[in-house]
Amino acid sequence: MSKILEIIEVSPRDGLQSEENIFSTEQKVALINRAIGIGIRRIEAVSFVHPKRVPQMADAEQVMALLPRIDGVSYIGLALNALGAERAVAAECDEINYVVLASETFSQNNQGASIAQTLETWDLVARIVAASGIKTTVTIGASFGCPFEGEIKPSTIESIVSRLMSGSRPPQEISLADTIGVAVPDNVESIFSAVHEQLPNLPLRAHFHNTRNTGYANALAASRAGVSALDSSLGGIGGCPFAPAATGNIATEDLIYLLDRSNIPTGIKLGEAIEASRWLNEQLHNDNPGLLARAGPFPSLQVELGEQHERR
Ligand code: ZN
Repeated sequence: MSKILEIIEVSPRDGLQSEENIFSTEQKVALINRAIGIGIRRIEAVSFVHPKRVPQMADAEQVMALLPRIDGVSYIGLALNALGAERAVAAECDEINYVVLASETFSQNNQGASIAQTLETWDLVARIVAASGIKTTVTIGASFGCPFEGEIKPSTIESIVSRLMSGSRPPQEISLADTIGVAVPDNVESIFSAVHEQLPNLPLRAHFHNTRNTGYANALAASRAGVSALDSSLGGIGGCPFAPAATGNIATEDLIYLLDRSNIPTGIKLGEAIEASRWLNEQLHNDNPGLLARAGPFPSLQVELGEQHERR
């Protein structure tokens, strides 16, 4: 059997954080349970940021306390500083995700700190979570382009990766994120291949937004360039409240359709992913950007196209 490509469901965090419609704690827990139900094993569940900055994430501790603990299911909390890391440990997250931005201006605007300062904070965060056995990922945001500085040089990514991996507690996974959705498969392939060559044993993860309709092509390119995990969000919800004109993450169900038909196994049940996406659509009272929940799968209609679909 070929190796499974991990799908990380990020709708509870990246997906919801830019939604104006504030989900209740119960709705968030229901969404995470639906993700588990379709076969997802890693879920970015919460973010430990200041509630004034991201009101949607104010109940992170309550959400974590209500989640079922299932063997093999891992909950990720986003932590951007020491306080966030302490909260993630206290809430018993299985993993944390820490963000460094690849552009100096974006870093100053978004994190209020230089790249060098955020790398120093990472050392502190890694030290805080070390004793608890929490798995760590560092995401390099804006790896493929910055709204303020434009193109990002591959050498910038390589030097951030080197700095992270030469520290006393290197992350167990590095994620490259196309925060503003500007990447195309060519640069995805070249940057991931370069990092993979630099660190052949380090698990790599990719995070794409479909802002310019290249998200799915990028995901496929990343899977072929050696990444072991891809982020996506049911219905393709999401954005970044701090990135101009950023739209949704790539949709989990659309991604699974693409990977299934490309013979890349993920362990996710497509029919149930479509159902979960439709449920999320109803909860948000939105027309989510994902397309498969409207079009249905092919060739076998694994899901009955319900009345809701007929009415569109
Ligand atoms: Zn994102």
